[in-house]
Amino acid sequence: MKYPSLKNYINGQFVASNSARTIKVVSPVDGALLSEVTMSSAEDLNDAVEAARIAFHKWSKTPIKERVQVFFRYKFLLEKNLQELATICSEENGKTMSEAIAEIEKCIELTEFATSLPQIVTGEVLEVSKGIECRTEHVPLGVVASIVPFNFPSMVPNWTIPNAIALGNCMILKPSEKVPVSSGRIAELLKEAGLPDGVFNIVHGDIEIVEAICDHPGIEAVSFVGSTKVAKLVYQRATNNYKRCLALGGAKNHLMVMPDAIATMTAQNVVASMSGCAGQRCMAASAMVGVGPIDHIIDKICDEARKVVPGENLGAVINKESKDRIEKYITEAEQQGAKILVDGRGAKVDGKGGGTYVGPTVIDHVTPDMAVAKEEIFGPVISIMRTNTVDEALAIENANPYGNAASVFTQNGGVARYIIERASAGMIGVNVGVPVPREPFSFGGWNESRFGVGDITGKSSIEFWTKLKKSTIKWNPEAGVNWMS
Ligand code: NAD
Repeated sequence: MKYPSLKNYINGQFVASNSARTIKVVSPVDGALLSEVTMSSAEDLNDAVEAARIAFHKWSKTPIKERVQVFFRYKFLLEKNLQELATICSEENGKTMSEAIAEIEKCIELTEFATSLPQIVTGEVLEVSKGIECRTEHVPLGVVASIVPFNFPSMVPNWTIPNAIALGNCMILKPSEKVPVSSGRIAELLKEAGLPDGVFNIVHGDIEIVEAICDHPGIEAVSFVGSTKVAKLVYQRATNNYKRCLALGGAKNHLMVMPDAIATMTAQNVVASMSGCAGQRCMAASAMVGVGPIDHIIDKICDEARKVVPGENLGAVINKESKDRIEKYITEAEQQGAKILVDGRGAKVDGKGGGTYVGPTVIDHVTPDMAVAKEEIFGPVISIMRTNTVDEALAIENANPYGNAASVFTQNGGVARYIIERASAGMIGVNVGVPVPREPFSFGGWNESRFGVGDITGKSSIEFWTKLKKSTIKWNPEAGVNWMS
């Protein structure tokens, strides 16, 4: 095992959990055994909540300008340890080293935003009538939880950690049991940055601990990122227990390509979007709807896809189950009459026999009723449908229950505007394949890609991690004038 067995992190210490159930952490890159992680029980969660509850008394009373000093130092430590963090991320998730470096760079950007929170969360005050003022201020919620998926072992935890904690909350992180190694280093770096014990805690586990988090009366808010199926379960269970919940789900992102789009640039964007992180991004392009004559663009997409080589500039998918599922989707589409222009099935990488790779796959003549057109594949696969009008393309996009992202490729500003206004998705790209908003803009989809109100990053997240205190204050302006005399 490359890394020691993973433990929970409670009150600033790594501690063994009370459960006997252990899961092996295997690298998708080559099948090497990286570590093992023990699942947690409700008892472990109690310990974490108690530590966080005690820490909250002092942390919430620490002025925000002092709290963010921890994150200035944390940002520096992320920069200092970037290569090591990226290596762990690549090993446990399977993404390429350059993708892992980009992930840690995004963590740095997220932390940078948190350090600017004192400039943003100022409240409001107004004299509403003579001698009476109303004022509002953002106050922290208490103990909050963040439940995260496998596809970004560092970035998604850092969507929530810096903002929630800088705003005065104490957090319990539940990492994905598939990629639990990165979170331990995050805990160590936060401690090195000066975060007081108990403010940040980790409980490892799977369904059992997620359910315990949703049920625990000491947890005020739950943020979740993962598949739509689980997002719905978590949202229902947490809100049923009267908790604030923001649950981000899966996606099926459509790229709408017009015949006037710049062919090479479009092809590069389509392929980067569908194959980056082996298609395991909630922002990955998974369906493309071509409007009118677009064969010249599809030819270039195939050329670009062939340049994407597993084990070189294409990482692994998370495990064998995932590889089998993705390849089954491709085979089913072929059997239903779609044309496989570039076929990634059966990909192997020399010297990495235990790795789980799927090559880039371009499927043409997909119809909207096929599973590859409707379902999230979460692999490096693009399903191309064809239409004659922009409205038909929009109808396909909008019929999908998800609503994370959609993009249009065109040189016509009117068409772009038409699609921005009508596409039912939270994040829209124009000639951009992965329209992730950069800080301070917030990240979040619509429809079945997000349950709850607001977004998970940027300014919008302030509303989720705080509650507003409203004071109405009356002073007699004359009183006290002569008090000292
Ligand atoms: P997942 O839903 O399987 O797991 C997410 C978390 O929920 C994990 O921590 C896991 O331990 C836990 N979990 C799994 N099954 C559970 C159950 N039945 N009950 C309670 N908890 C359970 O997701 P994943 O496979 O880890 O991640 C991939 C998914 O996440 C994709 O659908 C992707 O689109 C989505 N995702 C969405 C966003 C977004 O911003 N919308 C971002 C990243 C990933």
